[in-house]
Amino acid sequence: MAETTLLEIHDLAKYFEVGRSLFKKKQNLYAVDGVSLYVRKGETLALVGESGCGKSTTGRLILNLEQPTAGSIFYRGKDLAGYSAADWKLYRQGVQVVFQDSHSSLNPRKTIRHILTAAMFSSGTIPRNKAQDAEERARALLSEVGLRPAEVFLAKYPNELSGGQRQRIGIARALSTNPDLIVADEPVSSLDVSVKAQVLNLLDTLQKEKGVAFLFISHELSVVRSIADRVAVMYLGKVVESGPVAEVFDAKVHPYTEALISATPIPDPDTTRNKKRIVLPGGVPSPMDPPKGCPFHPRCFRAESKCATEVPPTVEVAPGHHAACHFAEERFSSYESMT
Ligand code: SF4
Repeated sequence: MAETTLLEIHDLAKYFEVGRSLFKKKQNLYAVDGVSLYVRKGETLALVGESGCGKSTTGRLILNLEQPTAGSIFYRGKDLAGYSAADWKLYRQGVQVVFQDSHSSLNPRKTIRHILTAAMFSSGTIPRNKAQDAEERARALLSEVGLRPAEVFLAKYPNELSGGQRQRIGIARALSTNPDLIVADEPVSSLDVSVKAQVLNLLDTLQKEKGVAFLFISHELSVVRSIADRVAVMYLGKVVESGPVAEVFDAKVHPYTEALISATPIPDPDTTRNKKRIVLPGGVPSPMDPPKGCPFHPRCFRAESKCATEVPPTVEVAPGHHAACHFAEERFSSYESMT
């Protein structure tokens, strides 16, 4: 593991048993199926894909909210499977979360003061007998996330705040333990455009000031392009393409990435006019019965006969740029010949 790597996951899998009854055999739902990723210190890795592709389950596995069926997760070089109670305490401080739905993730019966200080006490960041220290830290955090004056917000309840303000509280709560990684699961998806831009700017500022890394889970590629350093595209529980965000957007090698990006709005009207949207046939196949061969082949506009029978290997087409397609290298060369 490189010195700059904070989190590394290898062949991570999560299968859920479904449909088990007296007369029915159990079936596996392959939510996450062999995912390998890493996050470096201070960077933003975006995990993208359609709803149900396994990106949120991957986040929940990293947060230890689900137990993996197979594979391993390393944080600061140590496998979570061998963690002691002391290791878990450090992990809970070091790895935090911001959820999409700030309404349900903040207890409506508790004040913001209670929500922020309880997070510091339960993680062990500040001892329970240091209430004054926790209060001061809560004030500083509110100021950092742009909620001023702090004493007014400390006394409020979540339902007295707007969606954008609640999301700022969610970010302040995540920062309360001094994390080095925040898993942000669709953190701006439910916000309107102007509030979304403000919250994204806040995340960007906090990252520059504190050096915190983000695993940014999103289905909005226009947002991902503006904030991520690297991107990993998921389809049916697998990563089909990953790499530096600018390169993946410019030289998209996997046909699924091509289709996703073709459906992304671009602010430049000239580019939008020349852009052809790729409409994929059919829906995403059932994760209980994924297609044989390349899982994308029933919808792929570049599929050839071997795609239905042979699983494509994941190949590195350029440094740090990987794709799981039989024709990945060919596709990448075609971009190179255009430049
Ligand atoms: S391996 Fe074949 S089906 Fe799969 S993405 Fe590549 S071209 Fe499409």
